[in-house]
Amino acid sequence: MHTLSCFALAEYGTDEQRKNWLPGMLGGELLGAYCLSESHAGSDPAAMRTRARRDGDAYVLRGEKAWTTHGGHADFYQVMARTSDDRTRGVSCFLVPAESSGLSADPPERKMGLTGSATATVRFDDVRVPGGRRLGEEGQGLPIALAGLDAGRLGIAAVAVGLAQGALDDALAYAKQSETFGKPIAGHQGVAFLLADMEAAVDSARATMLAAARRKDAGLPYARQASIAKLVATEAAMRVTTDAVQIFGGSGYTRDFPVERYMREAKVMQIFEGTNQIQRLVISRHLVHARSEPSHHVLRTAATEEPQA
Ligand SMILES: Cc1cc2nc3c(=O)[nH]c(=O)nc-3n(C[C@H](O)[C@H](O)[C@H](O)COP(=O)(O)OP(=O)(O)OC[C@H]3O[C@@H](n4cnc5c(N)ncnc54)[C@H](O)[C@@H]3O)c2cc1C
Repeated sequence: MHTLSCFALAEYGTDEQRKNWLPGMLGGELLGAYCLSESHAGSDPAAMRTRARRDGDAYVLRGEKAWTTHGGHADFYQVMARTSDDRTRGVSCFLVPAESSGLSADPPERKMGLTGSATATVRFDDVRVPGGRRLGEEGQGLPIALAGLDAGRLGIAAVAVGLAQGALDDALAYAKQSETFGKPIAGHQGVAFLLADMEAAVDSARATMLAAARRKDAGLPYARQASIAKLVATEAAMRVTTDAVQIFGGSGYTRDFPVERYMREAKVMQIFEGTNQIQRLVISRHLVHARSEPSHHVLRTAATEEPQA
């Protein structure tokens, strides 16, 4: 999420904006947060209501952003807010310092997992932001936010692969040393085939993630592939972590072993940075609307017209 909150400045900031703020953000001194979702506008961010009203050479932000990772802890917030009523072209992007007057965070959500990371609603009660803190053009905020998510989805896919690999490694070690009917449970075909399916899921998720990442590194369009990677890797992580709990038997259901936590962490990956239903929407729209691989610009423009986040 910190990387996602740096993306807009790195890609769309002016030289002066980058010189002022990027070193601290990339140097690990400043923690960032990314404020796109609202309580009624998660999958459909173009429905957002948070407003940025122009006042002289500044903007005044008013509204609430839900589900903000690092909310209440961040040093700066990348905030998407409405500067006009145009659904997709009426959103702008701002870099708001945490100490701004009128900015506050609710107590963190009580989540199923990811307990090491605070998630909170952040409130903007007439927060004054200098015009020099707007990133990109007025009205460019949604394409900027969605471009960040393309890259973010590769990150989620990579995390999901690591999580699934961890669960497989633990399940394999347990299956080799835990015995029933006079032999290690890995010696029972029912368990061995489960492990084989887990290995196949982890391997194919990793390959899909790397193929998408290589396209990004090569400067090729990768939005569709990032959605596929996020979908494939997080579905694999959910299945593999659930099967890891199964292989541990009753012990898997206790907090004495890490696999129950892996399973809880996997669940959120099917939800954030675009639920897996939204990834299917993105992939199917590429299939239906694109004759050949369109340019990145075309993809981005099409994406802003549809639900994504
Ligand atoms: C732990 C955590 C951290 C988060 N961090 C951040 C953050 O830092 N910044 C941020 O901006 N957001 C963040 N989010 C928000 C996250 O991106 C949203 O929760 C997510 O996009 C889903 O939105 P929603 O919760 O409003 O669900 P909804 O959009 O209400 O969706 C509810 C259900 O309906 C389905 N659905 C909705 N529309 C469609 C459709 N068109 N077709 C098929 N199915 C559909 C969804 O897939 C889902 O299953 C975070 C969420 C969590 C849980």
